[in-house]
Parts: sequence; structure tokens; C-alpha cells
Amino acid sequence: MHFVEVKNILTGVNNGMNVYRGCVHGCVYCDTRSNCYGFTHAMEDVEVKQNAVELLDNTLKHKKQRCMIGTGSMADPYQPCEKGLLITRKCLEVILKRGFGATMITKSDLVLRDLDFLKEINHRSKCVVQITLTCTDDVLSKKIEPNVCTTNERIKVLETLKYNNIPTVVWLSPILPFITDTKENIKNILEACVSTNVKGIVCFGMGMTLRKGNREYFYDFLDKFYPPLKQKYIDTFREDYQLSSPNNKELMTMYYEVCDKHNIISYPNDVFNYLKDFPKKEKQLELMF
Ligand code: SF4
Repeated sequence: MHFVEVKNILTGVNNGMNVYRGCVHGCVYCDTRSNCYGFTHAMEDVEVKQNAVELLDNTLKHKKQRCMIGTGSMADPYQPCEKGLLITRKCLEVILKRGFGATMITKSDLVLRDLDFLKEINHRSKCVVQITLTCTDDVLSKKIEPNVCTTNERIKVLETLKYNNIPTVVWLSPILPFITDTKENIKNILEACVSTNVKGIVCFGMGMTLRKGNREYFYDFLDKFYPPLKQKYIDTFREDYQLSSPNNKELMTMYYEVCDKHNIISYPNDVFNYLKDFPKKEKQLELMF
């Protein structure tokens, strides 16, 4: 871990932020490892934006319109170091104080530590927690995402959030061809989404992406746990960026059936629009009195 001072904290697009750069969760498919992101340090040597809280406070203070603030698109905001650093937590406190909404993508149950702020932000405006679910087989889950809690533990997080009336979105992605693209796995994940009342699911199809940088890392994983599969990947997908499961059609049919039946938002753009929408609850309350 190393510390840096940054000049800006919010991206121009969608008011997103990443208080950490790099990640120790070790997901074998991680796109952030791709060369195109130009990392000059190891992924596991997490860069900590130590002035993120002050910058965010100052930025939100001068923003003309309140909106949703997102985090977690490039690095999980709940790194193990967050337990002691509390940067994500303090950013949530700033978001609450300034009357903005919040949404975060994570795989970590550490998000529940901040339940107090999540509830208060959601009460005042809107807070949506986005959780990635990829594999309900715990043994396999620990191979694929070795340094973070399993999909089944994340489902328990979704249950707690449901109990506390915090809306949730699930990222059903990536699904690894010939490994996690089974009917049973997708059925289990969808059942969890239904039972925990998720608002929407982000699914771009049953498959994954690989490009220079993360491809090599993923192939090392195949060499270690599934040696015959590496050649199968090469023969099937060559250097393709998008690797679609041979079961895509059947699994996506099941996906849409379940989503339609249970009123779950199923198209990525519709989910993103839902996440972006800032309800102005405070304004509505003001008008009532
Ligand atoms: S949690 Fe996200 S950023 Fe971290 S290793 Fe996994 S895919 Fe990469």
C-alpha cells in the first residue's frame, strides 16, 4: 500500500470516484489488470488517495445540483486496508452531510460496517449497494476470487440490506466459460436475487472479457487449476476480447424469464438509469411542509 495526493476525486462522467487504485481481492478475471489502464505499480500495492475525503467535501460543496455519487467501478472501495483507513466510510459521511446520494460496487461484506450511513443516506435521498455474484460453489469461489468473501457470504449481505430496506443491484458478471456457466450456478444466483428482492441485475450476457494483461493472469489460473482448459480457451476464443459461453442462449433465456417474472430490471442501460436517478426526496419533504 502506498499513499498519494490527488487533484481531483470525481470523474467528469457519472460522478464516479475511486478512493483506492489497485485491489488485493485477487479475482482471476480482473479487467483492471489489463495493460490499457497503465498501472505503474503492482495491483496489490494499493494506491490510497489520502486527501480523497477533503477533496470530495470541497467538490460537493461547490456542486450546483445534487446527484448520485458512485464508487467501485475500477477498484473495490472495501479493500482490507479500509478497515483501518476508513476513507470510504468518511466519504459516505461527506455524501450524507452534503445531501447527495450514493451507490457502490463491492464484493466485500465490510460494506455492512457502514450500514448506519447507508441507511441514513437512503432515508434522506437514495443509496444503492451493488454486489457482484459469480459462483455459488464456495470451493470454486475461493479459487476464482481468493481474497474476498464468497458469493454465498455476499448473498447474506444482500439479505441484511433487504432487511434494512437498502435497495440493491447485482452484477451477474463475469461468467467463466466451461467453469461457472452451468445452469445450476446461474439458477442459484437468480434464486438469491429473487429472495433478496434485488432491484436490478447487470448482465451483459453469459461470458467474460480478456485482453492483454488480464489474459495472462487468467491463463495462469487455468494452468494451476484447469490445465486442459487453457488450450480449449485458446482454440475456442483465440485473442478475442469477448468470450461468450456456449451456453449463453439457454442461460440468458432463463435469466430474462426470471427477471420478467419477478419484476427485476434486466437490461444494463435500464439498471444504469435507475442508479443515476436522484430522487430529490429532501426537496419533496420540503414541499410537504
Ligand atoms: S474486486 Fe474488482 S478490482 Fe478487485 S480484483 Fe476483483 S475484479 Fe479486480
